[in-house]
Amino acid sequence: MTTIYYLSATGNSLYMARRIQRRLEEAGQEVQLVSIAAALHEQDLRPAGQVGFVMPLHFFGLPLLAETFFTRLDLSQVTYSFLVMTCGWHYMSDAFHAARRLFAAKGQRLSAAFYVDMISVYLPLGDIPPEAKKKHRLQKAAVRIEKVADAIVHQQSSYDAEYLNFLSGLVHGYVRKHRQGLDQNFRAGEACNQCGLCAKICPVENISLGEAGPVWQHQCTQCLACLHACPQQAIELGKKTVGRQRYHHPEIQIRELIRK
Ligand code: SF4
Ligand code: SF4
Repeated sequence: MTTIYYLSATGNSLYMARRIQRRLEEAGQEVQLVSIAAALHEQDLRPAGQVGFVMPLHFFGLPLLAETFFTRLDLSQVTYSFLVMTCGWHYMSDAFHAARRLFAAKGQRLSAAFYVDMISVYLPLGDIPPEAKKKHRLQKAAVRIEKVADAIVHQQSSYDAEYLNFLSGLVHGYVRKHRQGLDQNFRAGEACNQCGLCAKICPVENISLGEAGPVWQHQCTQCLACLHACPQQAIELGKKTVGRQRYHHPEIQIRELIRK
């Protein structure tokens, strides 16, 4: 049995997790996909056999929610483990080092770790690429994930390169320390019709609905799921997201990303 835990705000990581699942099933393995946001509500987190993690790169490292998840996991029954990070660009990163440290703290070794470059969805730093470029990048990523999945089927032990670990770790540590301020620049505009989707999709239940729309509760991880999913495009993070295109993976429906 293989358990693949995924964390996905816009569908990129869920899409990749499904591609790995399909490849493993073609190789005759039984696979279950589990949302990390949902799994954190379980008391007993003890996967056995082969276990994988698919998630986006956040602030040059592991998503804050994933760090919490790793500390909760009992890995004593795991025989092979892999981590796949989706991202816009991965060379400056501390994610694999951080994951190895978290595994080592449990006396375990992360067997393999891979990056899949896709599309950066962090709108405060840039727009989603134009349609042709977006399509090209997603096609390249789809080819790349097949190679990654093949490596996983053969239980290869390898790590993709990542650079500037120390600097990445400093940035990530700063973000972790100031987590309570990560949602201070979110706001919902007049277009909000109080549909409640943002509250349902937030993986950390950081949004409640007030009379005038969403209210952020200062436990944000800045995954941007709420901002990208809002059907009214009413949510902004500061001024730089205004007018920028929203995104979700074309083969994943928004409803599939809602916290279960
Ligand atoms: S998803 Fe958008 S429209 Fe719906 S409640 Fe949230 S901000 Fe308002
Ligand atoms: S509030 Fe929005 S950006 Fe923050 S964790 Fe929730 S969904 Fe992600």
